[in-house]
Amino acid sequence: MARLSLTQRSQLVMSAVAALAIFGAMAIPWIQIRESMVAQQLQSMRDISQIWGKNPDITIDQFRFVKGADGKAAVGDQFLSSAFDEFAASPDIFDRYELEHGGDAPLSRYVRALRGDQADRVAIGDAISLDIPDAAWKKLPLTGVISIERSGVAAARLIWQDRIYVLIGGGLAWLGIMFAVRLLVVRGYLRAVRRLREVANRVRAGDLSSRSQLRTGDELEQLGNSFNDMVQTLDGSQKQLQSMNESLDFKLVQLSEANVGLFESNRLKSEFLANVSHELRTPLNSVIGFAELLAELARKDSDADPKRIRYIEHILKSGRGLLEMINELLDMAKIEAGRMELSVSNASITDMLEGISAIMRPQADLKKITLEIQRPEELPTVETDPGKLQQILYNFVSNAIKFSPEGSCVIVRADVWSVDGAPGLRIAVLDSGPGIPLDMQQTIFEKFRQVDASHTKSHGGTGLGLAICRELSAMLGAKLGIESNSNKGSSFWVEMPLEFRAKKLPPLMADRAG
Ligand code: ADP
Repeated sequence: MARLSLTQRSQLVMSAVAALAIFGAMAIPWIQIRESMVAQQLQSMRDISQIWGKNPDITIDQFRFVKGADGKAAVGDQFLSSAFDEFAASPDIFDRYELEHGGDAPLSRYVRALRGDQADRVAIGDAISLDIPDAAWKKLPLTGVISIERSGVAAARLIWQDRIYVLIGGGLAWLGIMFAVRLLVVRGYLRAVRRLREVANRVRAGDLSSRSQLRTGDELEQLGNSFNDMVQTLDGSQKQLQSMNESLDFKLVQLSEANVGLFESNRLKSEFLANVSHELRTPLNSVIGFAELLAELARKDSDADPKRIRYIEHILKSGRGLLEMINELLDMAKIEAGRMELSVSNASITDMLEGISAIMRPQADLKKITLEIQRPEELPTVETDPGKLQQILYNFVSNAIKFSPEGSCVIVRADVWSVDGAPGLRIAVLDSGPGIPLDMQQTIFEKFRQVDASHTKSHGGTGLGLAICRELSAMLGAKLGIESNSNKGSSFWVEMPLEFRAKKLPPLMADRAG
């Protein structure tokens, strides 16, 4: 069953309570009507009997005379026999009336006691007084009774007629109460509640200027006022929020303008760096070239001063270090300026590994490090920029040699690998150097970041190599990572699919501000 509304529930309860109260109150007149009618009938029977007593010649229908105190035995009538008993037992009772409903129709029955010589006089047709008896009469012995019966139809009808009027009156009172209840509940309270709900709905729809106008002067008005206060507070908070939003928008505009400026400055810086690095390389290359020439001449000259050869080698070493640094700066500047270009082709990894081994072996030999290439018999070709991939591997191997102890072994291992479900390749460079602490394993891929320990400080470097590797691998659509435990060596790896997948580079400003 559907739930009843507040109106329906209030009306239902009020109508039940009103019906109970009205019909409960109607029980009194309902009973009283009969009592009054019986009293009225008794009085008229007494009047008839008194008239008859004074004029015994008058013929009365259904008149009966029973003589003798023991006449009870002869009557055979419940009403009369019980009247006999009553009169005999109590001299104060001198008559009795009953409105009977039994039989075909209602019947009015009256019986009157006769004492002393009254019964004898009635028997001979003498007039007697049947007025309200005195004390002397009450002392006389019971000598008989007279009874009169009349139709009680009119009396019974009157009783029911009056009761129907009472019922109609009760019904009208009930309707009146219900009307008043409806007026009070629906008009008085529910209408106010509905108006409050309409205001709440308007507020919910965003109209914060809406207010309750209830002027009932009671708790409902107080509720409306509290509601208004709440909306007022809400309105205030919303306005505050709006102004905060506006200032936030303004700040956002300022921030984006600053961002554009920063972006532009960064681009200019990268461009400047790229240009300067490029310009620096030309003279440096000639310094290194001439130094190499001088070193060669000095080595050929048997009389050459060994100091001269050492100095020239110092110039060469420093020049090469400087060139490497400038190259790294140039690469990073090119990447940041978005000027690093790819040249994709099918690269033979076997050849590339052999090439790296050949280039890096002299460096490894200086520290008596064994450089070992481990690879399967057959390696597929990879669609990539071979120069960039080689640069990544060169950096890994160069670091591995740089940080491994003398006489140790550096392994370059290539494996066929699955990259994101596609066929690919993984190349890892394993060393037995100091390793990299876990909390630094991501940091070292950021620009100019180095593990802050004496052994790395002593190795020098710019801290740009791995950052360049990360950018290059992103350009190649490759993944790059590290596995390392402190003091147990490191393994730097790069994974790439056999088929080239250009990856979208993150925005230049995202994490390169450093
Ligand atoms: P650089 O070598 O010029 O300092 P990199 O970006 O190549 O710059 O390396 C950053 C830092 O990462 C290094 O300074 C070093 O602290 C650490 N690192 C790199 N490779 C290794 C390695 N194989 N073993 C130990 N530390 C390493």
